[in-house]
Amino acid sequence: MTRQIKYQRVLLKLSGEALAGNQGFGIDPDTVSSISREIVKTIDLGAEIAMVIGGGNIFRGVTVSSKGMDRASADYMGMLATVMNALAVQDVLEKMGADTRVMTAISMHEVAEPYIRRRAIRHLEKKRIVICAAGTGNPFFTTDTAAALRAMELKTDAILKATKVDGVYDKDPVTNEDAKMYNSLTYLDVLKKQLKVMDSAAISLCMDNNMPINVFNLFQKNSISRVIKGEEIGTIVQGG
Ligand code: UDP
Repeated sequence: MTRQIKYQRVLLKLSGEALAGNQGFGIDPDTVSSISREIVKTIDLGAEIAMVIGGGNIFRGVTVSSKGMDRASADYMGMLATVMNALAVQDVLEKMGADTRVMTAISMHEVAEPYIRRRAIRHLEKKRIVICAAGTGNPFFTTDTAAALRAMELKTDAILKATKVDGVYDKDPVTNEDAKMYNSLTYLDVLKKQLKVMDSAAISLCMDNNMPINVFNLFQKNSISRVIKGEEIGTIVQGG
């Protein structure tokens, strides 16, 4: 069963906004259900999935700190927001019959397991979906960087960056009708052209460790499974 897939183990990065659906903030249960259904299909393919979920639908440290709050405190609040999202996704995945573990970079034993790399790998080997929450556990970082870090630690074959658009464009496709999508890019292209794939810390980490990033539309039917099976959809970012 596992022979038909390109990526055996993946790190799926979901932004917090992906969970908000059309309401733009908070958690939309219907959206979380439809995303979770896609994720469960990939487990049925035999893939191992680790996830990093953002928190921007609830709280973004940098936005609040620009209004006067201490940046580190605001970032800790942002990290706590990612835990709320992780618990929401876990709940829905488990109701669909998937086996999951939330692992947090900030210890909160009553709520979830602490992130321990070797335990996370063991969970993946047992085909449990590992949801990595609380980012890197450090302020001044983002969940994109957390995704790059966890992908490296867990030795995933790629990062799947799920977005609301089909891939990486030369300009914002929502506001520019003539925006062109790239099929493939190098890490250096992304850094030089300042393309909005992931922040530069995350891209540099992926470049130094040769971790491919596949950016694709989360809301296209079967998109996660299609990427895992090796279909070339979206934009792939890799070495030159
Ligand atoms: N955050 C942080 N350290 C991390 C990851 C996240 O301080 O390692 C905080 C930061 O304030 C960020 C917020 O958590 O704004 C939510 O994460 P992010 O903005 O990456 O979420 P996304 O844009 O993916 O929804």
